Amino acid sequence: MTNASETTSSQHQLKISKLSKTYANGTKALQQVDLHISTGMFGLLGPNGAGKSTFMRILATLQEADSGAAYFNDINILKDKHALRNQLGYLPQEFGLYPKVSAENLLNHLAILKGILHKKTRQQLVASLLQKTNLYDVRKKKVGGFSGGMKQRFGIAQALITNPNLIIVDEPTAGLDPAERNRFYNLLAELGEQAIVILSTHIVEDVKELCTDMAVLNKGQILLKASPAKAIQTLEGKIWEKHVNKAEVAELKTHFQVISEKMFAGKPLVHVYSDSQPTTGFRLVEPDLEDVYFSKIFGATATPALV
Ligand code: ADP
Repeated sequence: MTNASETTSSQHQLKISKLSKTYANGTKALQQVDLHISTGMFGLLGPNGAGKSTFMRILATLQEADSGAAYFNDINILKDKHALRNQLGYLPQEFGLYPKVSAENLLNHLAILKGILHKKTRQQLVASLLQKTNLYDVRKKKVGGFSGGMKQRFGIAQALITNPNLIIVDEPTAGLDPAERNRFYNLLAELGEQAIVILSTHIVEDVKELCTDMAVLNKGQILLKASPAKAIQTLEGKIWEKHVNKAEVAELKTHFQVISEKMFAGKPLVHVYSDSQPTTGFRLVEPDLEDVYFSKIFGATATPALV
């Protein structure tokens, strides 16, 4: 089997322009989405219903767009689906497993389905994928008994069978405990050295830990595209924090751009986006990626989109 990531340039490009999708019931899932993504880990961050899965499924050639263009290097994704599939590894939000089959046998079976017919080559590939995803020691166990994290790593192992240059993972860390999530992060980060890895998530932490580049998607529109560090920098000197009473929150919202309110030791801790101190008691804080995300989602319009 040829090793695509060794034979092609390690710098891949994914160029998406004016991609739109409206469902039959009128829901505008994607509205003129423009994105340019290079090799590395890319985070697509957005709340439930933002359009992430629609976007990922179109890129994975599982769904048709209404209009727009999408190219992976020189492959026209919307037209030449077969060529794209040869480069693609896809881990959907939910994927079916045959619960009574061992990880090793299932991976072997999936490799046959993907056309790797030479037995020795396939055995070596299966062993290396199991090692890479840290499942080698449990290769004889039935996948039905795997933990959430092990299932996700198995999902990555199957996505890597074709040695893809474009890897799409849809909400991969939902339901993983912190240790499993860390293991999964490490695996994804390694993949991002050679390929474009697009990770869709509503968990800000995922993007903060992993991604060199990111976009915020809401209601089918890209609200921001930047590196996490750059996006955070734009909020320097503008995020103010205060512990308040519940009654104060509503009042603050009528006068200021309250971008988040969290409970902290039983009391709301609010973050306000403002060029100057909103009221006494507010202190300026170092912005973080959550502030970037919430300021975009909740419409602190003064923050630049950096697209
Ligand atoms: P996300 O992955 O960010 O949660 P989705 O792409 O699943 O977002 O959904 C985007 C919007 O499109 C949502 O409003 C959702 O309800 C709607 N939607 C998704 N799939 C369909 C469908 N098959 N038919 C109608 N509406 C859909």
